[in-house]
Amino acid sequence: MRKLPRSLRFYVAASTLYAAVVFFAVQFIYTIELAQSGIFIATRDNGNVLSSIEIVSFIVWLGISLIAAAVLHRLATALAGARSAEAQAKTSKEVKDQELGAIFGLSAALAGPLDLEQIGRYFVAAVRGGLALDTTIALIVYDDVLEAFRTIAADGPRATGLKGSYSAVALPSIIRVRVIDHRQALVLADTSVDPVMWAKVAEELPALGAARSFVALPLVSRERLVGALLLLGERAGDLSPDRAQLPVIMGQYVAGSIHSALSVKEADARAEREALVNRIAQRARASLDPDEILRGTVDELSKVLGVSRGIVSVGETEDELTVLYEWDAPGVPPVGRGARSLPVARFAARLGRTVVVRDVRQDQRFAEQDTGTTAQIGVVAVAATPIRVGGQLAGAITLSQIDRAREWTADDVRLLEAVAQELRVAITAAEAFERQRTAVVELERLNQAKSDFVSIVSHEFRTPLTGIQGFSEMMQSEDLTLDEMREYAGDINKDAHRLNRMITEMLDLDKMESGRMQLHREPLDLNAIVSDVVDRVRPNAPEHPVSLRLDPLVGELNGDRDKLTQVMANLLSNAVKYSPKGGEIVVSTRAEGDSAHVVVRDHGMGIPKASLEAIFERYGRVESPATRHIQGTGLGLPIVRQIVQLHGGTVWAESNVGEGSVFHITLPRGAALSSAVAEAAS
Ligand code: ADP
Repeated sequence: MRKLPRSLRFYVAASTLYAAVVFFAVQFIYTIELAQSGIFIATRDNGNVLSSIEIVSFIVWLGISLIAAAVLHRLATALAGARSAEAQAKTSKEVKDQELGAIFGLSAALAGPLDLEQIGRYFVAAVRGGLALDTTIALIVYDDVLEAFRTIAADGPRATGLKGSYSAVALPSIIRVRVIDHRQALVLADTSVDPVMWAKVAEELPALGAARSFVALPLVSRERLVGALLLLGERAGDLSPDRAQLPVIMGQYVAGSIHSALSVKEADARAEREALVNRIAQRARASLDPDEILRGTVDELSKVLGVSRGIVSVGETEDELTVLYEWDAPGVPPVGRGARSLPVARFAARLGRTVVVRDVRQDQRFAEQDTGTTAQIGVVAVAATPIRVGGQLAGAITLSQIDRAREWTADDVRLLEAVAQELRVAITAAEAFERQRTAVVELERLNQAKSDFVSIVSHEFRTPLTGIQGFSEMMQSEDLTLDEMREYAGDINKDAHRLNRMITEMLDLDKMESGRMQLHREPLDLNAIVSDVVDRVRPNAPEHPVSLRLDPLVGELNGDRDKLTQVMANLLSNAVKYSPKGGEIVVSTRAEGDSAHVVVRDHGMGIPKASLEAIFERYGRVESPATRHIQGTGLGLPIVRQIVQLHGGTVWAESNVGEGSVFHITLPRGAALSSAVAEAAS
């Protein structure tokens, strides 16, 4: 038998009790009323009549009680039903109110100007309200600057795997086609319904693999796809078309805000880029120092783009490209100036356009090139653009990312090319400036040489000329004896010779320095030349005993007799001239391997160490009180050096002031000579 509801049992019991009480009360009153009216039940009646009346009444009452109980139960149930319906209506209204409140709350929160991260936080918090507590929510936006999707907010147990940025191609194909391309929602209440499809999704984006239910909603504002909302349920059925409704509505609100924030960000980025290019352009135009331009340009570009290394290489052909300047992020090892391992820059130079490489290790174009070297220095992603000046390759800029692949955006490329353009202008200007500077330096040098020449001429030429003038005037105006005449004529002749020598020396040096001097070579005995010169000097230098130490092994060499005689004469006359107090002069020759070594040692005033090189320069003279009265042109030693070098030899001096000087000459002998001469001539 079906069990009666408790409420009905209660009503039956209450009605029965009530009926019993009423029955006994009626029975009691009925009996008293009968007694008072003197009616007694006959004793013969053994109670049957009375009992039958009582039983009938009881049954009637019981029946009425049951009916009453049933009616009351119905009434009570109906009343309770009406109450719960009212309560239910009230709850669903509350939910709706709550949802509406959440939507209004979100739209109010999004009313002000916000950055993407703030928008993301508000949105995720608002969406969370209508979902199972352990649902993972991720909001990804399409960042135009990065040209990739970027997670701006993620919350829930699987949030970590969804953070970061991914290119559109990195998204699972079903999301890419359905949500991104066709802008339709993808709702999978149970991902295990199509295990093959879901396995593919998990393979393409492993962070989604564990979701048992999944929703991906496109976020579209003013025809532009600004991002997508991803929801990952832990259990099948956690997400359903019904449950996706609130996020869909909220998504419409948030898409507008994301759109505005992105537009602001893009405008900012564009403005920043333009400002950078302007700064670089200004700096490049303001400075003419190529090093300064490179520093300012490459450093700033590299920092703005956040690369690990920025390199400017120069070269007129792709194979000549060598590192001229580099900027390295802290901790990044430098490639080194002059390095040549620039396969991407070379490739860009060959193609004549910018080349970007996401990951060098996976790029077929560089598989056969020397990526070994590139990999060694840890480069993964590279962008390079050629610098051309007047249609001709001048160099390249290379930006590289160490240790990670990088998607180079169209913006990165535009910036790189803009900087290359500025660098081109700067390099051209700097080159012109450099040419001008060299010309100015050369002019200054010539000017200096001219004034040196004028001062030498005015001083050195004047002395013999004054002599010539004085003696000739005396000869003209005075009565002179024949002997006096001869003497004066001799003096005039000496001064004229000196003038002649000076002019010859100047012209000789000029000829030698400009490469117009020819050597008349012949086999000659160096020892013979040396002793010849010494013999000529001896009578004129009684205070300077000259000792000769000749090495017979020096033998013959191939040279210009007159020029080598001039060399020895210069050295010996200096040894005499700069030893005014006299002193021994030692001239020695020595055979040393393929060379002949000639040494002229004096015990004169000596030369300060600082001047040992300068005395071989044109007009290089030691200025001191001791040398002031010694006549000279400062051309003798430069001529010596020129002649010795034309013979393929070397000349140098050693000295201690006050102790004397030693002049060394080495000259190649035999076979060594001819090749050295050929080399010198070339
Ligand atoms: P100059 O005509 O002045 O002698 P040189 O070119 O021959 O020109 O010499 C250059 C300078 O080198 C001299 O002015 C002198 O100061 C120094 N010098 C050359 N030879 C000697 C020497 N043997 N001892 C000291 N100083 C010397």
